[in-house]
Amino acid sequence: MQRIGLLFATTAAALLVGSAGATTTVGAVKAAKETPAKRATINSVERHAADLTGLSDRIWAYAETALRETRSAAALADYGEQQGFRVERGVAGMPTAFVATFGSGRPVIGIMGEYDALPGISQKASAVQEPLEPGAGGHGCGHNLFGAASLGAAIAIKEQIAAGKLKGTVKFFGTPAEEDVGGKVYMAREGLFDGVDAVLAWHPSDETQADMVSSQAMVTLLVEFEGRAAHAAGDPWNGRSAVDAAELFTHGINMMREHIKPTSRMHYVILAGGDVPNVVPAYARVSLWLRDWKRDEVEGMLARVRKVADGAATMTETTGKVSVTGGSWDMLVNEAGARLLHSNLLLLGPVKYTDAEQDFAKRIQRATGVPEVGMFEGVKPLEGQPEEGGSTDVADISWIAPTLHVSVATAPVDAPWHAWPVVATGGMSIGHKGMLLAAKALAATMVDLYEQPGTLAAVQTEFKAKTGGTVYKAYVPDGPPPVPKD
Ligand SMILES: [Zn+2]
Repeated sequence: MQRIGLLFATTAAALLVGSAGATTTVGAVKAAKETPAKRATINSVERHAADLTGLSDRIWAYAETALRETRSAAALADYGEQQGFRVERGVAGMPTAFVATFGSGRPVIGIMGEYDALPGISQKASAVQEPLEPGAGGHGCGHNLFGAASLGAAIAIKEQIAAGKLKGTVKFFGTPAEEDVGGKVYMAREGLFDGVDAVLAWHPSDETQADMVSSQAMVTLLVEFEGRAAHAAGDPWNGRSAVDAAELFTHGINMMREHIKPTSRMHYVILAGGDVPNVVPAYARVSLWLRDWKRDEVEGMLARVRKVADGAATMTETTGKVSVTGGSWDMLVNEAGARLLHSNLLLLGPVKYTDAEQDFAKRIQRATGVPEVGMFEGVKPLEGQPEEGGSTDVADISWIAPTLHVSVATAPVDAPWHAWPVVATGGMSIGHKGMLLAAKALAATMVDLYEQPGTLAAVQTEFKAKTGGTVYKAYVPDGPPPVPKD
């Protein structure tokens, strides 16, 4: 499938060469039209390319993990401020969350940027596995590129509003901790996305496409049992084991597993299970995540998991407690928005790689045992995109405002994600090229939303029809997330 998509897109791109501004039909979606404002935003991304690449590389080198992204958030917020945005820092109780705003009135178009790294996967910008700093974090999800590209798009739009070529407001949302607590969920609960007419986001990937597939809804739980300690040999009859309860609970979950939808997932780890065998454990703690492509299924599983916990507590004469610690909704795909993004990807044409870059990608593929096909060069069609497991806090926002999402290739095809290959290409020219394409595609699509009220209305009409009056509620406990002190 991937090969067919690639050939298809390459042909489409070839048709576009030398025809800037022309309309080329590809399937049901035509390449977008280039207007003066759109050309100006594309030129703006080019003009800021060195700064954006520099920002991305700094954030790549900082490699700060969730809610520790102090220097990364400051780098983006400072640059936005220098470019003329009003910046509000430390929003929603998170020191590394911020909102940068420019302009006034409607429409209000938002764009999201992430910048958190993953722990323990430090890597040089090299085609062999080699940590930059052993034990440190690394950008194995490419969020260094994500933040810089989205800010670049926001700046391009800001310049057009300042020049009087576009009317309305642009908001850049600096959203921390996607890999952990989901900073967007806290920002959403604070109402920061209220009043936004549409919001855009992208994600680094191993291929390029306007996304037509959803993500999985998820709820994260802490299941705790409290029993009574006693000497495990001397007076065990006085004890009531919390670990017995935890074992019966996980056994119950594994029995339940046969009677859930094939689309559902339950995965757990045991975080506390006693200290020494000669003490009957008084406390046990299990972390359990529930997922499905539909939030209703997750809610149904959650109700059953509560019963399993109650049952395990009853059997062991302990007490059980189930706490929802977080979660995210399933992504509400906006097809009108995806078609718009796709048409702008077709206008821009795909990234071209040098032989050296393709060789770099193939060396990574050889090292990780995946086919040596190099980098994806093209735009995948809207049709036939496979659903792949995973959850994101972007999905929560998709229930508050119509959300347009694009994936752009920044890593070798099929190379392991959340791992060293993504860190490696995210810190060199392969990642930079993807980042600049993402910035241009997002800016060009935003221009259409400002310039074409009918297109924005279609995006919003679809959003209203699909949400059907559902009121968004964040899966997070009261108060801000705990910010690491160290
Ligand atoms: Zn990510």
